[in-house]
Amino acid sequence: MIFKCPGAANIRTPTIKIKKCPRCGGEVELFSIDMKADCPSCGQTVFNNISSCAQYCQYAEQCLGTETFQKFKQQGK
Ligand SMILES: [Zn+2]
Repeated sequence: MIFKCPGAANIRTPTIKIKKCPRCGGEVELFSIDMKADCPSCGQTVFNNISSCAQYCQYAEQCLGTETFQKFKQQGK
């Protein structure tokens, strides 16, 4: 069993966040693992600001699994 760091826990256990659409001010539901979602009202893409341990943690790949790790690592570019 790999030690679960707080960053990975946030990714492994998705939570719903409500973001405000920058275009129309409507509410956009975003899971903590989603990088972006489209506003249901106007279609504007709203980005999620994930501060992910995948950006810096040397154990992130083992912790999250390669597929998820790559996904989050690419997001930082
Ligand atoms: Zn909108």
